[in-house]
Amino acid sequence: MTALALDGVTKRYGATTAVDAVDLTIPEGTFVCLLGPSGCGKTTLMRMIAGLEAPTSGDIRFGAETITSVPVHKRNFGMVFQSLALFPHLTVGDNIAYPLRLRGESRGTIEARVRELLDLVRLPGVEARAITQLSGGQRQRVAIARALAVAPRLFLLDEPLSALDAKLREAMQVELRLLQQRLGITTVVVTHDQREAMTMADQVVVMRGGRVLQMDRPIDVYRRPATPFVADFLGQTNLLEVTRDADGARLHTGALLPGIALPSPQALLSIRPEDVLLLPEGEGPISAEVEFVRDMGSGVEVYLRAGETRIIAHREAGASVAGVGARVALGVKPGAAAVFPAEAA
Ligand code: ATP
Repeated sequence: MTALALDGVTKRYGATTAVDAVDLTIPEGTFVCLLGPSGCGKTTLMRMIAGLEAPTSGDIRFGAETITSVPVHKRNFGMVFQSLALFPHLTVGDNIAYPLRLRGESRGTIEARVRELLDLVRLPGVEARAITQLSGGQRQRVAIARALAVAPRLFLLDEPLSALDAKLREAMQVELRLLQQRLGITTVVVTHDQREAMTMADQVVVMRGGRVLQMDRPIDVYRRPATPFVADFLGQTNLLEVTRDADGARLHTGALLPGIALPSPQALLSIRPEDVLLLPEGEGPISAEVEFVRDMGSGVEVYLRAGETRIIAHREAGASVAGVGARVALGVKPGAAAVFPAEAA
C-alpha cells in the first residue's frame, strides 16, 4: 500500500526552482533515501513532506488523505534534523517526554514510554542525565527516541548522521536501518552520502537540479544508472566517450570495445572499476599505462591512463598488480558497461 505520494510537487523561491515537478510514490514500510549533491532540493522536498514548507504547486498525499495544506503539528510525522534540536537544559528523559507532555499524556504513561524508547535506541537507564553529558552518537539516539515518542505515521530525517565521525556514522546507519525494520515505519532520509544511502535504503531517490533522476533499489541504481550523472554520483565509475562502430564502441585512442551496441553515433559508457579487466599487455582491447596504485588492504585501486583517458580499475585484496609505469591491457567484463547517448546528462 502507498504511504506517501507526491504529485507534481514544485517549490519556487523567486527565480529559483528548488523542487521541480516531483512525482514520487513511497510504499508503506519502505526506507527511502533522498540523495543528491548540495542544492539539488533534497531538504526543500523533505520540508514540504513534513509540512514546514508549502509547495508552490502539486499535491502530497498520505494514504488516502491529501495533506498538502495540513499543518505540521497535525501530520503526526516524527522528525530528526541535522542540528538534532534537543533542549540542552532538559534531561534526556524530559527531552523524550516533551512531545508526550504536549499531548497531555499521564505521568505514568510518559515514564513507561520513555523507558521503552531508551531501550529501543539502546540507551537504557540514562533518563536523568543532562544532554550535555552525552556523546554525539548518544544525542543522536535521544533525538531519534524523541521523534518516535508519539508513534509517528512517517519518520523523516534530514542529514541525521552528518555531525558524527565516519566510524560512528557507519555504525549508526546500520542501527537506524535495523530500528526501522523492527518498527516497520515508513522512513524518508535526506543524505548527500551515497554509502549511507546504499547501507540504509530500500529505495534511493537520486535528485539533481530539483528533479528526480531515478528511484530504484540501491543495487539497481548502481548497476543500471538512469544517467551518467547518477552513475558518477553513486560510487566510482569510468565515464568514457565513445563513437559507434560496426563492431562495437570505439574510444578516442582508437581502441575498440567489441560487442557494445551504441544507441547513437556518439555515446558515453559508464564502467565500474570492478568491471575493468586488467590483462597482460596485448591481451585486451585497450592499451594503458599504470600511473598509480593504491593498496587499501581490503582491495587494490589501480589508476591507469589510456591516451588522454584516465581509467580506474579495482582488484581484490592481495592481488598482485603491475607496478607504476608498466604497460597493460584493459578489457571490460561482458555486459557490464552502462551505455548512454552522448547528450544525456
Ligand atoms: P544541501 O545538501 O546543501 O542541504 P539540498 O539538496 O538540501 O542542499 P535545498 O536546501 O533544498 O538543497 O535547496 C535547493 C535550492 O533552493 C538551492 O538552490 C537553495 O539555494 C534554494 N533555497 C532553499 N531554501 C530557500 C529559501 N528559503 N529561500 C530561497 N532559496 C532557497
